[in-house]
Amino acid sequence: MNSQFFTAWIEETARTIAAHRDHLTRLDAAIGDADHGTNLDRGFTAVREALSAASPDTPGEVLTLTGTTLIRKVGGASGPLYGTAFRRMGATLTTAAGEAVRSAPDGETAVTLTELAAAFEAAVAGVRELGGASEGDKTMVDALAPAARALAGAARDGREPGEAFDAALAAAREGVRATVPLQARKGRASYLGERGIGHEDPGAASTALLFTALRAVAG
Ligand code: ADP
Ligand code: MG
Ligand code: MG
Repeated sequence: MNSQFFTAWIEETARTIAAHRDHLTRLDAAIGDADHGTNLDRGFTAVREALSAASPDTPGEVLTLTGTTLIRKVGGASGPLYGTAFRRMGATLTTAAGEAVRSAPDGETAVTLTELAAAFEAAVAGVRELGGASEGDKTMVDALAPAARALAGAARDGREPGEAFDAALAAAREGVRATVPLQARKGRASYLGERGIGHEDPGAASTALLFTALRAVAG
């Protein structure tokens, strides 16, 4: 997986978020302030512009620029959290590139499934450190953490990327479904107390879309 792959993933994520913008905003209307879809769509529109202006040529730079742009453009809780997730992924892949990188014929660094899984696990750690949420608190962590675990497990089992991304997407979606009966303990939805029970967490839902896009670009 090279920088073109990661650029394609982020662009597909931007398209998927745009297509689901109103759905994400409706989810946030139920337990938040009705801006999650517009927040992320604004952010990923800016990310597409930044990527096309800079054309970063390593996977680490693609993801770092994505994260930095989200932090700059997205107000609200999700901007710094997603921004940190992508910046941690970028940093992890940059480190991996320094150590264990196989160079493709064109000199481009190529990321393995194992390295990608490690990058997602670093993203989970970054979100948890910044937001203080654990699994079960009804946040994006409820989708991101199981998806990262599924990816790492598939990498350990020597699966093909397509299969690994299927497993990650299934785990993310299951994590989203599992947020419905929960009472939020972090973020704006926690202000609702028990009244937030019975609704899907918008940030978990948008996290699953990252994996929908990943599956789509893997072919
Ligand atoms: P805001 O709540 O500031 O309007 P958004 O609506 O864009 O921001 O994002 C809300 C989502 O952010 C929630 O659905 C939840 O998944 C996620 N979130 C909020 N606070 C936290 C936190 N402390 N840790 C992890 N995720 C969080
Ligand atoms: Mg909101
Ligand atoms: Mg808001």
